Amino acid sequence: MVTDTASEQPAGARFRGPSDLHLHSDHSDGTEPPAAVMAAAHRAGLRTAALTDHDTTSGWAEAAEAAASLGMTFLPGMELSARHEWRSVHVLGYLFDPDDGDLRVLTDRIRHSRLTRARTMAELIGRDYDLSWEDIVDQTAAGATLGRPHLADALVAKGHVVDRGEAFAGILHPGSPYYVDLYAPDPVTAVAAIANAGGVPIIAHPAGRAGLLPARLVQRMLAAGLAGFELGHRENVEPALTTLRELVAREELIVTGSSDYHGLGKPNLPGEHTTADDMVARIIDRATGSAPVFP
Ligand code: AMP
Ligand code: FE
Ligand code: FE
Ligand code: ZN
Repeated sequence: MVTDTASEQPAGARFRGPSDLHLHSDHSDGTEPPAAVMAAAHRAGLRTAALTDHDTTSGWAEAAEAAASLGMTFLPGMELSARHEWRSVHVLGYLFDPDDGDLRVLTDRIRHSRLTRARTMAELIGRDYDLSWEDIVDQTAAGATLGRPHLADALVAKGHVVDRGEAFAGILHPGSPYYVDLYAPDPVTAVAAIANAGGVPIIAHPAGRAGLLPARLVQRMLAAGLAGFELGHRENVEPALTTLRELVAREELIVTGSSDYHGLGKPNLPGEHTTADDMVARIIDRATGSAPVFP
């Protein structure tokens, strides 16, 4: 009997690198549709890519089809918004069940809060600048997860700032009088929601300028099913990075590296950081919620 067909290999052995596991489309705050994001990943030489829009899975189908037609492996993902005290924490989730009820309740609540919050911020900004809600709608793909980047794009279109960076440094900064918080679950809840949906939770850009999350919180996230950390990311800095390298080695956690591509919304380019093949295999083998899409 012949059993040596590709479909009978374990899933974790069927993809090929290089792999970039963190890219955004216009279903959240990237500037391109999912198919164009996969095309950009392909042009950069990647052979496996994930779509990780904020708080939504709505781009998966288009990205999967585009990736397959380009001969790439597609990993379905999401970047779930969470918050610890004053700071925002982003939890990447891979290969979870997109129909999981608890996770959907959570993402629906976050997206609803993002809409209310964007309306309030637009209203506050509109008192001092020429900016209407229509201007934000003009910058947002239908159904997209709204965020400050859409407000930034509207401010750019109106000539109030030159780019997203200037908007984030001023009008949209958390210290600005126009800033409004969004609802986001605590990081332990976010990690558990992804793990309970059969997914693999990884903390995005965990060593940014805000510094490390408290060790006790990390231990609670690990107990809730946290699988690893995105150590390859342009926003990570020392000495936090070294501390996390020691933690992942000690606890044998998964380590990823990715671009966090946002199209024209950020300078990050597909493939600027990648994830090692053995780590991609561990993510695929650990997940039970959904499957990668192979070409
Ligand atoms: P929000 O979740 O709506 O508060 O907005 C945060 C999002 O804005 C993150 O997902 C980042 O991708 C994006 N972002 C943060 N800072 C910047 C920046 N300086 N330039 C462009 N995008 C940014
Ligand atoms: Fe983003
Ligand atoms: Fe993020
Ligand atoms: Zn991201």
